[in-house]
Amino acid sequence: MVNDEDIKRMANLLKSGATMLADTCPVCGSPLFRLRDGQVICPHCNKPVVFVKAGQQEASAMEPYIIERVKEVLLKRLSEVSAALDSDSDNMPSYVSLISTILDSLKKIKELEAS
Ligand SMILES: [Zn+2]
Repeated sequence: MVNDEDIKRMANLLKSGATMLADTCPVCGSPLFRLRDGQVICPHCNKPVVFVKAGQQEASAMEPYIIERVKEVLLKRLSEVSAALDSDSDNMPSYVSLISTILDSLKKIKELEAS
């Protein structure tokens, strides 16, 4: 799905000297752009795309997307658990331990992204 925002972004990419590729984004199917520094990005997902090279596992090329998805799910759960904690103090210890587990996972993801 290409929306107005995407088209604006694509136009800006072209203006900045990027070239449109024949390849499409593995996630959303938008045409990909190669920036002048050689980086390939998807204007819709608005993030760099890693091409699957011959012999490379698809999962490893998809890693940034998978991690992003995990992060979204964790953050969603975190907000649900904090709402539950707020309304149900009887089970506080289990909520607190759950929150702590989620925060640990998010910290690990941050470390992964920083590496
Ligand atoms: Zn995309």
